[in-house]
Amino acid sequence: MAHSDVIAQEVLMKAYTKISSSKSYVCQDERELNILKRFGFEIIGDRANLGEGAELLDADQISIHLSDDLEGTLRNIEILTCTDSTNDRLQERSKEMSIDGHIMMAEVQTAGRGRRGRKWETPFGKTVALSLGVSIDMPASAVSCLSLVVGVAVAEALLSVGVADVRLKWPNDVLIEGGKVGGILTELVVATKPVEVVVGIGINVGSASTIRQVVDYPVADVCDYVEGPVRNRLVAELINHVVRQCRYLEANGFASLRERWMQLDAFRSREVVITSPNERVHGKAVGLGSNGELLIQTEDGKRRKILGGDVSLRELA
Ligand code: ATP
Repeated sequence: MAHSDVIAQEVLMKAYTKISSSKSYVCQDERELNILKRFGFEIIGDRANLGEGAELLDADQISIHLSDDLEGTLRNIEILTCTDSTNDRLQERSKEMSIDGHIMMAEVQTAGRGRRGRKWETPFGKTVALSLGVSIDMPASAVSCLSLVVGVAVAEALLSVGVADVRLKWPNDVLIEGGKVGGILTELVVATKPVEVVVGIGINVGSASTIRQVVDYPVADVCDYVEGPVRNRLVAELINHVVRQCRYLEANGFASLRERWMQLDAFRSREVVITSPNERVHGKAVGLGSNGELLIQTEDGKRRKILGGDVSLRELA
């Protein structure tokens, strides 16, 4: 772990201990206050606090909203105060044991990851940083669509807590009214049938103002669409829907999940540009191929299949 992450974690842990008992952390050290500010704390004079309405993770609150049909599926729900990356921690765990049904969450990540090693911002107490271990009785070739399946699950979870206009951006982003509210990072830890996967989900729940300071893409936040505390309820709904859709994929394959994904597609019939290290492809987004590839109709009328990996989709300006 980077030295700066170790220092940040010490400061964040200290602040957490104080705010759990007295709501704010009084601190005279400017360097510490700067770290806390960077991770989303409100700083007023020498006091750091989480701001109005922040809801800390609570296993009991989460359990209340977990679906009865998960009975026997979940093995362990672990809530960390502070870690580098919940996906990394769960991957590490997978070296010792099966992680099927294991869930790891954190109030804050100091090194949250997106695709291609890009940074995923996770301010303290105001996002969902959730990693879930899932075993799927399929070969690795059949789960290349998994981040799309998880996208459907995340969208359904957001709809179930009252967000109306949720859309998906191929391959792994979740949008509300065009702003990025969440990202998905699925990582294979056992590549032979039955595969085992770490499903990582990041969702903004009260953190957009902090994130907008460092991210140049439009950002959305669940708290702008739902009244009252929603973080623990959303965690439970994410778990409910991800497990349900993974079981559905296992039993029925990708076909009807593909249809659902296309209903939620933010860019369907829009002119887009796809950038990869080797090329730029312009054309109209016309849906998904049978394995989750993005289909692009280019100017010459031909259809191109874009595979996942090191590619990025943007609307053509
Ligand atoms: P794209 O496909 O748009 O090029 P991506 O899907 O590869 O991006 P990810 O790897 O999923 O992006 O996520 C990392 C990127 O998301 C960062 O580079 C940053 O622009 C943006 N980002 C990071 N944290 C957040 C957050 N909490 N909310 C919204 N956007 C974020």
